[in-house]
Amino acid sequence: MSVVHGRELKKPLREHCDVVIVGSGAGGMTMAAHLAEAGLDVIVLEEGAYYRSQDISAFKPSESLRRLFREAGMLAALGRGQTPTISLTVGRAVGGSSLLTGGVCFRIPSEVHHGWEHDLGLTGLSERSLQDEYADVERRMAVTRVPERLRSESTRRFVRGAELMGVKMHALHRNTGDDCVGSAMCNFGCPVGAKRSVDISYMPSALRHGTRIVSDALVQEIVTKGGRAVGVAGRLLGGRFGKPGLSFRVTARAVVLSCGTIHTPMLLQGQGLRSHGLGRYITVHPCVRMMARFKEPLNGWDGALQSAHTDHFDGEGIKFTSVYTSVNVLAASLPGAGPELMRRVRDMPHYAVFGGMVHDGGGGVVSRGLGREPVLSYEMAPRDLVQLRRAMAILAEMALLGGAEEVLPPIFGAEPVRTKAQVRALMDAPLDARRIECLAFHPLGSARAANDPRRGVVNQDGASYELPGLYIADGSILPTSIGVNSQVPIMTLATRVAWRLRDALLP
Ligand SMILES: Cc1cc2nc3c(=O)[nH]c(=O)nc-3n(C[C@H](O)[C@H](O)[C@H](O)COP(=O)(O)OP(=O)(O)OC[C@H]3O[C@@H](n4cnc5c(N)ncnc54)[C@H](O)[C@@H]3O)c2cc1C
Repeated sequence: MSVVHGRELKKPLREHCDVVIVGSGAGGMTMAAHLAEAGLDVIVLEEGAYYRSQDISAFKPSESLRRLFREAGMLAALGRGQTPTISLTVGRAVGGSSLLTGGVCFRIPSEVHHGWEHDLGLTGLSERSLQDEYADVERRMAVTRVPERLRSESTRRFVRGAELMGVKMHALHRNTGDDCVGSAMCNFGCPVGAKRSVDISYMPSALRHGTRIVSDALVQEIVTKGGRAVGVAGRLLGGRFGKPGLSFRVTARAVVLSCGTIHTPMLLQGQGLRSHGLGRYITVHPCVRMMARFKEPLNGWDGALQSAHTDHFDGEGIKFTSVYTSVNVLAASLPGAGPELMRRVRDMPHYAVFGGMVHDGGGGVVSRGLGREPVLSYEMAPRDLVQLRRAMAILAEMALLGGAEEVLPPIFGAEPVRTKAQVRALMDAPLDARRIECLAFHPLGSARAANDPRRGVVNQDGASYELPGLYIADGSILPTSIGVNSQVPIMTLATRVAWRLRDALLP
């Protein structure tokens, strides 16, 4: 069985199955594989298109942006108050955001699990209870430690600076098995198919076990009967210009939403659901990327996109992880114009990059926009803004200690800094948060799990409190921010939801 390209269908789709899953990203594809392997009849409906991994490998970044990223990569969380505009990237294709990851794999930190278990009473989401789920995800995704030989010279310079600060760096774990060749292109699709995104790690088994996956299928409505979710309806994209696409309707014994944190609440709100916190409390892990110029060429693209991290600042809610994305994308954040810009672009081999991310408190709200896409706004907690600035200061200091000649702070209009005193001056000066060049990749928590319907949207098995027959398995159900990259955590929770649903549906 192969993926059905919805835009090539010639007549409206009417189907029935055991479980219909909306969205084929980290959460959705994990659900599909487990349920199908258990013998259930599964249909996955995905709004984005389907590209084979060998097609994705050949995309240049500008093509990936248009084909794999929602809004061609131009989605943003609009800042409220003292908050930067945050560029937020999410995927929209069969495989969802999983196609775009840097491959970084973390389990949820023990302290976060502890809080879920003891403060929120979510005993089913304790570290101990999820051991089997974690192990299953990590095995299927071939999670391995990044070997030393794949550490780029860009990363080594920051690591050296960190060590001089007394900060220890560790090798990251990634879902690339032993196959990564270190081309630093992961965010636009792995050029050698090494990254075990869900289209590679889970989809083949889902298909082999009979799952029907339909791309270009935008779900617009949850079908209910007698106060119970019994299916979904929507339309196939790619209709002739000016004509609506063909409609589809899939009925099922259980409906699973895995549209991701931004889109899952849209379907629920459209349905009139009013569960506590629906579309609110969204956390995004605001990030900054620091570029630093070194005297000698480093060729930072030569190595794994991400290979090292430190947990030294975890207690302060700041995570530092190495990152080096595609050169042309990095060049877009260089300052200057004309000859000055040209000089910097020619200097690209001399630049090193490192990332910092804040374990944020959750000021995001998603609501229906005028067009098809929802509007996400985000108000950064004052403490998080302080930590974001502290992250920048630490990164700049690391780079200078590592031997950088100058550092380019991710602050619009800021001059390059060359000394520790200049870093201090910049970081101590009043700063309008809207000048910070902020990014985010991990929106979480718009339909949080809680052990009480007055506090959340689903229970710890992913079942909706308000609409029987409806389950959620994606980033939206994470009860709080986690402070680490989100794919393994989401897939681990999705595995739990899948196993519970399997047990409920099978005799
Ligand atoms: C550039 C980038 C780099 C990242 N790097 C890492 C990393 O290194 N490590 C890590 O752990 N995490 C990383 N992440 C985060 C990780 O990819 C996400 O947390 C995870 O994939 C989210 O899973 P999800 O199931 O919630 O949503 P997604 O994977 O985003 O899947 C949601 C899917 O639902 C579809 N959909 C939405 N609405 C509808 C609808 N109405 N009808 C039909 N389909 C719909 C979407 O098109 C999408 O394909 C990265 C993310 C990005 C964007």
